[in-house]
Amino acid sequence: MKDCIFCKIANNEIPCTKLYEDEKVIAFKDIHPAAPIHVLVIPKEHITSVNDINESNKLIISHIFITISKIAKDLNIDKEGFRVITNTGERGGQTVDHLHFHLLGGRNLGWPPG
Ligand code: AMP
Ligand code: ZN
Repeated sequence: MKDCIFCKIANNEIPCTKLYEDEKVIAFKDIHPAAPIHVLVIPKEHITSVNDINESNKLIISHIFITISKIAKDLNIDKEGFRVITNTGERGGQTVDHLHFHLLGGRNLGWPPG
């Protein structure tokens, strides 16, 4: 989608530190890490938020979670634990309107979040 920063990353129009890519998803380091490990996993297809997950695009969600599982193993945080977060909408703190999953790890993560 035009003017979407994550579509631009998916299309190699703006740079990122890429950890994984295939035909459907891309994973890259968050530019403002909130933890020692902070990776964003996104569908290449523009989906605005969780509100837009539906029957026609549901398979990408399982693919994203399989990707997250692989990355957590690659980064060796699978055993110690990590967190996956998707902020949604204004009250959820979503600042980029292209569906993304934060993979956070490498430190103890407090609960509940702010
Ligand atoms: P959210 O606030 O949940 O929508 O998450 C958006 C995330 O995208 C934030 O953690 C930002 O630091 C991150 N972000 C924004 N622009 C970029 C970029 N160009 N490269 C990597 N991460 C980015
Ligand atoms: Zn987009």
